[in-house]
Amino acid sequence: MSEQDATALVLFSGGQDSTTCLAWALDRFARVETIGFSYGQRHAIELDCRARLREGLVKVRADWAGKLGCEHTLDIPTLAAISETALTRDVAIEMGADGLPNTFVPGRNLVFLTFAAALAYRRGIRHIVGGMCETDYSGYPDCRDETIKALQAALSLGMARPLELHTPLMWLTKAATWQLAHDLGGRDLVDLIRDQSHTCYLGERGARHDWGHGCGRCPACELRAHGWHAYVGGGS
Ligand code: ZN
Repeated sequence: MSEQDATALVLFSGGQDSTTCLAWALDRFARVETIGFSYGQRHAIELDCRARLREGLVKVRADWAGKLGCEHTLDIPTLAAISETALTRDVAIEMGADGLPNTFVPGRNLVFLTFAAALAYRRGIRHIVGGMCETDYSGYPDCRDETIKALQAALSLGMARPLELHTPLMWLTKAATWQLAHDLGGRDLVDLIRDQSHTCYLGERGARHDWGHGCGRCPACELRAHGWHAYVGGGS
């Protein structure tokens, strides 16, 4: 396997999905680096979870300790300047007339993946892994498979180098994502993700539910709770 094919760069926010993607990449690639973005989120707490998750992951499986490489954090303050959402301003989360929550930052994942591709190019990496998923969040057009495939083609053309965008969660329900974590790292990985990953839109960390920490009321918490209960209940 060439060096280019041995290494992956994972978009790692510290949430449930990206942590599961990081475990998936550690299982599949010889070396894995992570990239996170800072763009003026109201809750930087998700980013703070990343260090604890990285520390925990290398204890889940002995072979992962030697694979987990460096962490990159890129500042993209411009994203906050062009978005009017509950993630970046102090307004209530609600659904817009277009069916999208106002937490949606237009094109955010396109920007993330493009920056990740530029970094990957510099580091001689051709595999990029992201937690985009159509199944539960069809409202986010930049998470759709068709979008990701188009962007993969555009980035490969624009950088004159073949690039692969991997989205292992694309067709999984949240319950199936928990099951994938179990398949990769057993109960230890499930516990780590449940306790240390962060998904809540409101950035609440205090309350501890059976599915992890969060406000329990926002759409992200509701989705996470629903997925957890389907997982432990054996449904999907
Ligand atoms: Zn919440």
